[in-house]
Amino acid sequence: MRKMVNLVFHGIDDPPRQLEPGEERVWVTSRQLEFALDSVAEHPWVGISFDDGNASDLRIALPSLAQRNLKAIFFITVGRLNVPGYLDPHGVRELSRAGMVIGCHGMTHQRWRGLPAVRLREETLDAKNALEQVLGHAVTTVACPYGSYDRRSLFACRQAGYRHVLTCDRLSSSPDAWLQHRSMIFRHHNAAGILHIIDGELHGLRLIRQRLRVLLKHWI
Ligand SMILES: [Zn+2]
Repeated sequence: MRKMVNLVFHGIDDPPRQLEPGEERVWVTSRQLEFALDSVAEHPWVGISFDDGNASDLRIALPSLAQRNLKAIFFITVGRLNVPGYLDPHGVRELSRAGMVIGCHGMTHQRWRGLPAVRLREETLDAKNALEQVLGHAVTTVACPYGSYDRRSLFACRQAGYRHVLTCDRLSSSPDAWLQHRSMIFRHHNAAGILHIIDGELHGLRLIRQRLRVLLKHWI
């Protein structure tokens, strides 16, 4: 079976809120999004996801996906529901009703590496429970904010009952793997850069280096 290449987008077009430091690098234009989605339509091994629960998920991403008959996973920062610039519970339910998968992106959008157990439980289990209350059905997938995880946070995800954890480790993954890697689409990516990511894996030394990095994260 061919491995999946998973893409991750964040906000689209002009941000309606103050961005976090460095966040502007991951806001893309609707032109970039549409180019990527048109390219993905020809590649069934590519998965699409959107992180953070921005208002542009509903306003821009959903119609762009629907036009192309594509599905995606939307990872919601649960503690930011109702914060201006982000989705509200109604918007999350609308995405779900449109056939999109809703996943959890933690409660407060912080790095999971090194968090104490009680905070990890809030970010994984409490956030999952709160999102399930909004949706009225189970949430089985989680994406760690900033792609930051370690052995303990993966254990917390298992304890919380997630079936898949999504990272930003730029590797391809088997569709049924517990840990699924993704590649971020950045604002600086041009068409060739986007196609390069969609086309697949890192090769040679870069691939070996990245696999080692991922291996270390599991054990430290
Ligand atoms: Zn995020």
